[in-house]
Amino acid sequence: ERLDREIAEVLGLRERREKDSELFKVFSEVFDRTTVETISYFYRRGKIDLLYGVLSTGKEANVFAGFDAQGNRIAVKIYRTYTTEFRRIWEYLAADPRVGYLPKDIRKLVFVWTRREFKNLQRAMKYAVRAPEPIAFRNNVLIMEFIGDETPAPRLKDVEKSLEKKDFEELYDFAMGSIERLWKRGDMVHGDLSEYNILIWEEPVIIDWSQATVKRNRMSLTLLYRDIKNITSYFARKGVSVDDPEEKFRELAGD
Ligand code: ADP
Ligand code: MN
Repeated sequence: ERLDREIAEVLGLRERREKDSELFKVFSEVFDRTTVETISYFYRRGKIDLLYGVLSTGKEANVFAGFDAQGNRIAVKIYRTYTTEFRRIWEYLAADPRVGYLPKDIRKLVFVWTRREFKNLQRAMKYAVRAPEPIAFRNNVLIMEFIGDETPAPRLKDVEKSLEKKDFEELYDFAMGSIERLWKRGDMVHGDLSEYNILIWEEPVIIDWSQATVKRNRMSLTLLYRDIKNITSYFARKGVSVDDPEEKFRELAGD
């Protein structure tokens, strides 16, 4: 019917047929009616013209590569509306002072989660921490700047074998510098910073801001400690002489 046709169009199936029907399969298996309608909404407004590839299929979300109607590349993160991560999402949102009313309905809770990630991206950019530029969100769909060109930017984890000590040192400074700037200037913490959420492009880019939150959150110190710990232990394993994590934590948490 009409929606399926619109989705087929978004996925470029008309021109590309069977070869890409895999994409359609991922799509129709994973997404419910609301999701299809939301994609369709963006399609009619030119925000999504084509989705041509799957960047990642995760527990919570799938990320697609696409184009908008102007031919700009975009990344489209689509949260599952029937996630098994309900409990974790609920706990994180309940602790965030920016979030008011928490819907009981799992779908609506995921919409709040999606909106919060969008707000986090805006906030990160405002404090000059390199993140994908947020473009639009609606329901469980988030559109953002695509990091990469014909191929998507690799994660730090994907390229670590080809990096040298000096690269790791620079990346450590970038990561720790970002933690500090976020915390001190942005009153904010990423909360899941690791070699999996740093993309290596012209400059490194921090992605996956769904669990990021503000200092006022009662969980923020726990998240800050986790980020410092993850980053120092990863880079220590790569031979960088890193800061003492406890000291760094006390220094930041102290003010
Ligand atoms: P998850 O919660 O599933 O870890 P992420 O936001 O980390 O979701 O995205 C999953 C993967 O999708 C990333 O590891 C990265 O490879 C890719 N990705 C996410 N956002 C972008 C983007 N803006 N540009 C290019 N690739 C991206
Ligand atoms: Mn991730």
